[in-house]
Amino acid sequence: MLLKKTFNWLKSFVFGKSRKQKPKYIYKIVKELPFSPKNNVFYIEGDEKNNDYWYALMICPCGCKQKLTLNLIDDVRPCWSVNFENNIVSVSPSIWRTKNCKSHFWLKRGIVDWV
Ligand SMILES: [Zn+2]
Repeated sequence: MLLKKTFNWLKSFVFGKSRKQKPKYIYKIVKELPFSPKNNVFYIEGDEKNNDYWYALMICPCGCKQKLTLNLIDDVRPCWSVNFENNIVSVSPSIWRTKNCKSHFWLKRGIVDWV
């Protein structure tokens, strides 16, 4: 019973649909952004050896299932900066969708913080 409750809580935590929930993301450095990204993964496209990164991709945490692509190249606007170490990712500034679900949130230490 308690185990089931914990499982449901975990499930809603990871695949949260309500704005009150704060989904958690892990990051993955990839050479090419995936066509079908996973829900709770923040993908970073680039060259790890040269510490050079171009794009990031995540599924919108609101539950709308839209892909959000972020530009990390600082001579193109808008541009985000991504900090990642020890499996924890943070993004600044906040991510604000101007279309559709209009989600606005920060990704801080892997956790979605709604604005
Ligand atoms: Zn959304």
